[in-house]
Amino acid sequence: MSTVILLREDLRLADNSLYDLAVRRGDPVLPLFIWDDAAWGDWAPGGASRWWLHHSLAAHGRSLAKLGSRLLIRRGPTLEQLLDLRPSRVLMSRRFEPAARSFDDRLAKGLKAAGIEVIVLANRSFFEPSDLLNGQGQPYKVFTPFSRLAMNLLPSLPPPLSAPHFLKAPVVWPESLNLEALELLPKRDWADGFARLHQPGEEAAMARLERFCDDSLASYQERRDLPSIDAVSQLSAPLHFGEISPRQILARAQAESPALAAPFIRQLLWREFAFHLLWHFPATPHQEWRPDWVGFPWRPADAGLLRAWRQGRTGFPLVDAGMRELRQTGLMHNRVRMIAASLLVKNGLQNWRLGASWFWDNLVDADLANNTLGWQWVAGCGADAAPYFRIFNPVLQSQRFDAEGVYIRRWLPELRSLPNKLIHAPWQQPLLCAAAGVQLGRDYPYPLLDLAETRAAALAARGE
Ligand SMILES: Cc1cc2nc3c(=O)[nH]c(=O)nc-3n(C[C@H](O)[C@H](O)[C@H](O)COP(=O)(O)OP(=O)(O)OC[C@H]3O[C@@H](n4cnc5c(N)ncnc54)[C@H](O)[C@@H]3O)c2cc1C
Repeated sequence: MSTVILLREDLRLADNSLYDLAVRRGDPVLPLFIWDDAAWGDWAPGGASRWWLHHSLAAHGRSLAKLGSRLLIRRGPTLEQLLDLRPSRVLMSRRFEPAARSFDDRLAKGLKAAGIEVIVLANRSFFEPSDLLNGQGQPYKVFTPFSRLAMNLLPSLPPPLSAPHFLKAPVVWPESLNLEALELLPKRDWADGFARLHQPGEEAAMARLERFCDDSLASYQERRDLPSIDAVSQLSAPLHFGEISPRQILARAQAESPALAAPFIRQLLWREFAFHLLWHFPATPHQEWRPDWVGFPWRPADAGLLRAWRQGRTGFPLVDAGMRELRQTGLMHNRVRMIAASLLVKNGLQNWRLGASWFWDNLVDADLANNTLGWQWVAGCGADAAPYFRIFNPVLQSQRFDAEGVYIRRWLPELRSLPNKLIHAPWQQPLLCAAAGVQLGRDYPYPLLDLAETRAAALAARGE
């Protein structure tokens, strides 16, 4: 008799319903991660996510070793690998991505047919996406009423579960691959800097939560839109990989002060809303949520614009700073994500899927629900989205949210010598920029798009 814990985005011991149940059942526990190329549909983890996953699995393995247990690693078809272990039961958490849902349904059928008990548990979010429905029994399409209901229900959630103190080991451990055999680390040098910046794993996630609650929770509401300062939690990757649970975050933030925690918790509810939308509208990673946007005349992919956007060389400093932050750190501040995305899909009229797939490959927090919601929100085609006429002006946004140019100078060293009055829109004063040591067209590009013209074209494309 043994219980397999099939780990996916559940890489923590505390507040993990899978470990909790496994311990209560009392049989030997086999924590297992399987890399299965067929498990992801079109959304296999991108390069940056694989880097995080590698280190998160390593950290989880170390935590298990402290309990006298091990992380088993396998590669290949999931059902085949599970049958090879001949467990009496398999515990796994419910996933919300369309390909993962159908994969897990097929897997459960296969296991049951082989006489193996399968238990699927809630383990990823405050609420199951199917649980919150409006007064008519329909899914929510607008965030505010969804978040109001969710906020009211938060006090009824049970407290986080404790981590197990001990996991019963099998008499003989089954074979396992080394983590390196999964080849998750990129061959390219682009992720080298990640190791200096990020520390994947449960312990580091809890430490980050502590630090955020001590230093930044109280000022979160005022400062969360300022990309130059460390004002946000940076818990998105730990949340995606399940190194920390939303209930743990809720408990810690509310212990600080329920009133101070509220704006931060509200932001966490966007993640719940994204899961809710993805669950009820599973076509949205590929298709515009609003039917009147299906068939929208996106311009054909513009290779030059896309290359410049990806490299952070569009000529719009705030956008370029964000795109370089993304490439170098695997993250980008939320406000800058919105502005960079808006330049591509609204001014550039490029299909949002092109931007979404670049983010998918480059974000360490790439998450199908959140990324789809973010891109459809900016494009204007999502459920609760910025209207088509809301087109971020990257210069005004820069003046407002990075007034001193601190964020821009951090990521665009070639503009460091520019004074604040030139740094947001250098092309407006090329001679002054040259006098300050920046030759436009040589040291930094002129903008690739005319903001006024492209704004008018974006409005016209909606036929307004
Ligand atoms: C175009 C675009 C693409 C995005 N792609 C992703 C993605 O792939 N993965 C991802 O996790 N987030 C994505 N986001 C949402 C958001 O930018 C990040 O969650 C946030 O920047 C993470 O930083 P943080 O953990 O410091 O956030 P905090 O401000 O500290 O917020 C705490 C947590 O709340 C959740 N959250 C906050 N804002 C949002 C939001 N707007 N939507 C959904 N959840 C939110 C996240 O889980 C976050 O970790 C995207 C946003 C945009 C505009």
